[in-house]
Amino acid sequence: MPFSQSQQQIIDRFDTTVDHTRWHDWKWQMRHCIRDIETFEKLLAYSFPEKQRNDIERTIKKFPMSITPYYLSLIQSDSTDSIENDPIFKQAFPSVKELDIMDCDMEDPLHEDVDSPVPGLTHRYPDRVLFLVSNTCAMYCRHCTRKRKVGDIESIPDRERIEQGIQYIAEHPIVRDVLLSGGDPLLLSDEYLDWILTELRKIKHVEIIRIGTRVPVVLPYRITDELIAMLKKHHPLFLNTQFNHPREMTDSSRKALEKLANAGIPLGNQSVLLNEVNDCPRIMKSLVHKLVQNRVRPYYMYQCDLSEGLSHFRTSVGKGIEIMESLQGHTSGLCVPTYVIDAPGGGGKIPVMPNYLISWSSNKVILRNYEGVITTYQEPSSYVPTTCDRNCEKCNLELKLQEADEYKAIGIEKLLCDYEKNYSMTPSCHEKATKTSQVKEAVNV
Ligand SMILES: *Cc1c(COP(=O)(O)O)cnc(C)c1O
Repeated sequence: MPFSQSQQQIIDRFDTTVDHTRWHDWKWQMRHCIRDIETFEKLLAYSFPEKQRNDIERTIKKFPMSITPYYLSLIQSDSTDSIENDPIFKQAFPSVKELDIMDCDMEDPLHEDVDSPVPGLTHRYPDRVLFLVSNTCAMYCRHCTRKRKVGDIESIPDRERIEQGIQYIAEHPIVRDVLLSGGDPLLLSDEYLDWILTELRKIKHVEIIRIGTRVPVVLPYRITDELIAMLKKHHPLFLNTQFNHPREMTDSSRKALEKLANAGIPLGNQSVLLNEVNDCPRIMKSLVHKLVQNRVRPYYMYQCDLSEGLSHFRTSVGKGIEIMESLQGHTSGLCVPTYVIDAPGGGGKIPVMPNYLISWSSNKVILRNYEGVITTYQEPSSYVPTTCDRNCEKCNLELKLQEADEYKAIGIEKLLCDYEKNYSMTPSCHEKATKTSQVKEAVNV
């Protein structure tokens, strides 16, 4: 693939000892990641004022910097606008605002470490686990939700730790979906990742494996033919990536996505809604269109977490709903992600969207569409609700559902059950909640 103009400029500014002919080799990219201000300034022919330099130095001490030469080459500045307003720059380059810790900020807002039965594995939802198999990333995204772990040597998972995680999964037949994340799982060597996937595939109850990676965005050259050949052996395998801005969709990224899609790997995208990066309905619409053109299904749009050092990236929830309003109905349903807030304290992902259900009577529902047309849906008069005691012939004979405790209804689903005798749920802090209750978060009264 030929070099872009900005790539050529960066190459020309590297020391003459640097063998730039290997630019498209992902290991070369990793070896030449930009980790200090001087190199950044040199490669982009840019210079920061002295005061700002000190601020950036202080920030890097707490939250290190690493940018692949490839991602650096996407930064643009034109004569009318500072490089510092560039959405690529903002995701890659430290800001002193990261040192502002707000009262609401938390080191581990999603309780990934708290809800962790073995180190590096989070089992929050009944049937799936989050498995952190790598602590390295090609680029240290400034908005990383696991910022607490970035560059932290202590938390590099070794083989023994991975084996512990695999053993946990093997011992819990309820786990049918394993989500590999990190760090970036695709920064492991082909052989090492092959080993992890092979071990997971030996476990009969693991139905699907998902990989969460930002490699197609920040290091697309990692998607080599060898990697593809290895991944293909482990189907059904899904891959979710994280494009946040339409300018990240380059020819190199397209090529990487094409290889993955051609290997039969269903691709999804998890964007993070970021202040002054993509908090705009037009930018998001352009992004989702580019994703779908490259066979990537927009999966989630995340509200920015309450991790420390991210306050300048957060938008209001209203902005997210405004973006959803601009997508739903206005473009293909295939292009519309689910907007989620990952609840602090390990509450998991909660979907949020505009209200489409306006009112309801015993025989009619009033809805509004994306254009504002208000319409009615007549409820069927012939529909006879069946009473479900979760023990009818359909369940027992046709579905052969498993009887494990984990399959029992919980939460609101349980309140809706016809057999359920409890008619309310009370938060444990409520005075009605009995002190002797064994249930931690919420109790039935
Ligand atoms: C996001 C997440 C998952 C996967 O959630 P899906 O909604 O199934 O994509 C699983 N475990 C943890 C801890 C998570 O944060």
